[in-house]
Amino acid sequence: MTHRSIIPTKTTLTWQQQLSDAITTTGALAKHLGRELDDVSDQGFSLMVTRAYADRIDPSNLADPLLRQIAVSPDEAHQLDGFSTDPLEEAEFNAQKGLIRKYQSRVLVTLTGKCAINCRYCFRRHFPYADNRLASRDRQSLIDTIESDRIINEVILSGGDPLISSNRQLSELFSQLEQIDHLKRIRIHTRLPLVLPDRVDDGLCALIAQCKKDIIIVWHVNHPNEIDHAVEQAARKLTAAGALQYNQSVLLRQVNDDVNTLAKLSESLIQCRIQPYYLHMLDKVQGAGHFLVPDHKVFSLYQKLCETLPGFLVPKLCREEAHKGSKTTFGSGIPNF
Ligand SMILES: *Cc1c(COP(=O)(O)O)cnc(C)c1O
Ligand code: SF4
Repeated sequence: MTHRSIIPTKTTLTWQQQLSDAITTTGALAKHLGRELDDVSDQGFSLMVTRAYADRIDPSNLADPLLRQIAVSPDEAHQLDGFSTDPLEEAEFNAQKGLIRKYQSRVLVTLTGKCAINCRYCFRRHFPYADNRLASRDRQSLIDTIESDRIINEVILSGGDPLISSNRQLSELFSQLEQIDHLKRIRIHTRLPLVLPDRVDDGLCALIAQCKKDIIIVWHVNHPNEIDHAVEQAARKLTAAGALQYNQSVLLRQVNDDVNTLAKLSESLIQCRIQPYYLHMLDKVQGAGHFLVPDHKVFSLYQKLCETLPGFLVPKLCREEAHKGSKTTFGSGIPNF
């Protein structure tokens, strides 16, 4: 889908090897792309990207929308009013280790703090991951919590990226969750099938196909150039395994803040059998101010998107507000702007 001027790295490495082989410095990224990049302070949030994802960047374009999502920008040093290190004030929802109890009928489980890509706009860029992942000894108490509360019908695996966990770890967790009658589904929020399509291996597909609970995969794709053939194949394998698939995007300045890009993204997603779900307004996390799209622009853009696409291809526009039990969504008829 992207016009490329370099040949993608053909690889026979396993997904775990590809993960260890990820690019983690500006110098290594510059070398991979065969171009110069400014090396600026990462503000304590290191650069990280898989080679599979970096191959989709157009190295001749410094404004490439994929590059902008992962390259460290000097703008990250700017302190802006209203931007903080914990914009969602999640600490208060941290019910027990590895578990966030923020929504009524669903619980968020943090399997691991690791990701395969560091997205510069991430609201968890200052989050104490290591203190909040689920150790195996804590898993039983988590299962007990879900089992004792019949109102919980959905477990959301989040992170970090839950698909960093091995198939064996996932299999153990799934079989524990399968024992809980009132649980209807397991939802997985992940960027791995996108940034490392080989993660969608036969073992994972078998796990999904055999699970007694419904499996929902929520992708995080922001730009149509992120979807190449391997990504489409991964999505089709997940559909074949019986997973339902949705996508949430973040609206990012100079990445996807125009109607054509967003429309094309929805079209590419549905071709992969992924249903557009949410279009998130930026969480105001310190270091991400240069990604902010002003409200008036967001709303006029969204209205144009509604006019451009059939309803089923329009994601719900939403914003996360601290202390709220759900996202705040906006319809197409947005008041007062
Ligand atoms: C919004 C969100 C959820 C849960 O919200 P739903 O409205 O149930 O989809 C879970 N995980 C992440 C990462 C989210 O952004
Ligand atoms: S948690 Fe999600 S958005 Fe944040 S760095 Fe990891 S993959 Fe990117």
